[in-house]
Amino acid sequence: MRLSQLFSRTLREAPADADAPSHRLLLRAGMIRQLMAGVYSFLPLGLRTLQRVEHIVREEMDAAGAQQVRLPAIVPSEPWKVTGRWDAYVEEDLLFTLHDRQDRELALGPTHEEIITPLVASEVESYRDLPVNAYQIQWKYRDEARPRSGLLRGREFLMKDAYSFDRDVDGLRESYRKMVDAYRAILTRCGLDFAQVEADPGLIGGDVNHEFMAPADVGEDLFVRCERGDYAANVEAAVAATPDEATGAPAERQDVPTPGASTIEAVATLLEVAPGETLKSMAYVVDGAPILVLVPGDRDVNEGKLRRLFSGSELRMFDTADFGRYGMVVGFTGPQDHDGVTIVADNRVRTRSDWITGANRADAHTKGIAPGRDFTIDRLEDIATVTDGDVCPRCGGGLTIGRSVEVGHTFQLGTRYSEPLKSTFVDDDGIERPLVMGCYGMGISRVIGAVVEQHNDDDGIVWPKALAPFQVVIVMANRDHAEVVARAESLYRVLTERGLDTALDDRDASAGVKFTDADLIGYPVQVVVGKRGIDGGTVDVKVRASGERSQAPVDNAVEAIVQALHAAP
Ligand code: ATP
Ligand code: MG
Repeated sequence: MRLSQLFSRTLREAPADADAPSHRLLLRAGMIRQLMAGVYSFLPLGLRTLQRVEHIVREEMDAAGAQQVRLPAIVPSEPWKVTGRWDAYVEEDLLFTLHDRQDRELALGPTHEEIITPLVASEVESYRDLPVNAYQIQWKYRDEARPRSGLLRGREFLMKDAYSFDRDVDGLRESYRKMVDAYRAILTRCGLDFAQVEADPGLIGGDVNHEFMAPADVGEDLFVRCERGDYAANVEAAVAATPDEATGAPAERQDVPTPGASTIEAVATLLEVAPGETLKSMAYVVDGAPILVLVPGDRDVNEGKLRRLFSGSELRMFDTADFGRYGMVVGFTGPQDHDGVTIVADNRVRTRSDWITGANRADAHTKGIAPGRDFTIDRLEDIATVTDGDVCPRCGGGLTIGRSVEVGHTFQLGTRYSEPLKSTFVDDDGIERPLVMGCYGMGISRVIGAVVEQHNDDDGIVWPKALAPFQVVIVMANRDHAEVVARAESLYRVLTERGLDTALDDRDASAGVKFTDADLIGYPVQVVVGKRGIDGGTVDVKVRASGERSQAPVDNAVEAIVQALHAAP
């Protein structure tokens, strides 16, 4: 492409409301433009990169035996009501809903389980037709509460969603394994550093699931990674090795006045102890009965784990009336001296026999509280948040917490959708059974944002060559120099003929502007054809990622460029 014909322009400054580095750089490079919050147009350069990701996704999905389809972006509400997800999405205000002229309720698809499941079931008759894996690359619509960071969290975004259909759980496991392998291959080819983590199922439901997390400071998700690389999990699902139980005699119980100290920090400061020496007692009501969840004071209750522990039950935190009803005092609650309250303790509660807890009356705490003697643990669970320095459950290595962006999510769904949607096949015994499903999402537009988060410097984007809009840019430094023009034009022709995606910067602009733009847009290889070089019979070749420059004889320029591209990441 001749950049003189490219209508998009680069910006020296990003709009003030562009928060994340990738958002700023994609705008400045002229790859995307915002239409409204979370909704973007892709300009020619941005679209080329988007298509490159799509191409990689398609190759790997096809290689894994998945078949591409295209489902409508506009979907009817009925199947969503059957699975119960209409209400779930409406409750979170995530759904873009609309009505047609017959007043039928419709939505713009936020994901497509409800559409693909009956579709595949209607094509597939018996177990002989299984397994099937169908995927699409389709725009998705979610009215996110906080669209932010450009492509990282849009309200319209491009997703690759795949759905596997098997006869049984063994089949599902095999389909799942293939998809996970394909995900790893795709993200590696896109040049992303990522970790596959065990995750919380959230709105989709189902059992085993993994997220593919790309570390980035702007990421909204926290994930836990072992320093030795053998364990990674979303904080919502993370577990750590259980520390040893306390030995030795329990301490003596003693009440101490703690006027006004109703938070862990206040108590710790007042009594001059570490927050980890205090016991946090969180009160909930589960199906109408009170429970206390105990964690060390330097941690929080992991809500994801708690929800899963009581899945199927109605769970809520105490309100003011509950405290009165069960004789507890806000900010001064302890697990001792209660009847009829179920105690759910984190494993770590057994590591001490001298906890400091609320005294169950205002303005007082009790020291020397010991599990077993002062209260009975009804359920011992891993229920606290994991923190930096915890011990890996697999190998004993150190765990660290980092920010990351979720670029992919894979689920073993089982019959969560096929059962309510009556999507069945006939098994070898002649009995109709629900299809056993997996679903696999990857945010194609989000991957672009994540790649830019990981690959940029002060001058701009540093595209991995697999995703760059063009692999090579030829900067025609002096348009008024006949030989420079002729050399640049001929290099452009030859490289293009050799199948390299090449841009020719033949704009009527200064060499300085062209260099700045080349760095900002982040072409992996930059070739400068300028007067001084040409007079000496050379062109300059620069690898964007390493900054390495070399001079190549004009006659050998093509080989030098091919080599530089080979060396580029
Ligand atoms: P998140 O927790 O980030 O909101 P999610 O868990 O709701 O995402 P899924 O339903 O698992 O998302 O969707 C599959 C994939 O689609 C995600 O892994 C992510 O890569 C992408 N995705 C989801 N929501 C968005 C969005 N608002 N903008 C861009 N990509 C998104
Ligand atoms: Mg997800």
